[in-house]
Amino acid sequence: MSVLDIRTYGDPVLREAAKDVEVIDGRLASLADVMIETMHAAPGVGLAANQIGVAKRVFVYDAGEGPMTVINPRIVESDGEFTYTEGCLSVPGYAWEITRPDHVHLVGLDLDGNELSIEASEFEGRIFQHEVDHLDGILLVERLDPDQRREARALLRSEFSSQRRDPAGRASLLEL
Ligand code: ZN
Repeated sequence: MSVLDIRTYGDPVLREAAKDVEVIDGRLASLADVMIETMHAAPGVGLAANQIGVAKRVFVYDAGEGPMTVINPRIVESDGEFTYTEGCLSVPGYAWEITRPDHVHLVGLDLDGNELSIEASEFEGRIFQHEVDHLDGILLVERLDPDQRREARALLRSEFSSQRRDPAGRASLLEL
């Protein structure tokens, strides 16, 4: 088992839309294992593949009932409103109060290729929205209102610009 570095704010892989998984095989299962280890070690409750540099539509989460993997996730329905203090492993040390839909209906595939259909609210619903956003290249900062967003971006630019960026080459070792 291994734990990978989590890409942080400013890394271009976080701003790219990830591509649909076409083949579910042992390599994808290994990727999910590494993602779960990395998420638990962080510690975090959700992790999208592009956060470890793999631009594939896969996320893992653990809302307290054990780790789960969702492949090619899509939110097909959402309603209500829920305000929650949200953080992100790719923006360590920050959290913002963000309002998003409360209830979501998530569909996707599991590691056996079976169709998943999960209805979730509150905390779990928030994880799903946050992770699907990651796979669309959207960070939580984009969900702030315009004034907060401007402030947050300025703050994060100075905070993360000095950090070492991963060379693009490393991601290719993990491409599945
Ligand atoms: Zn995140």
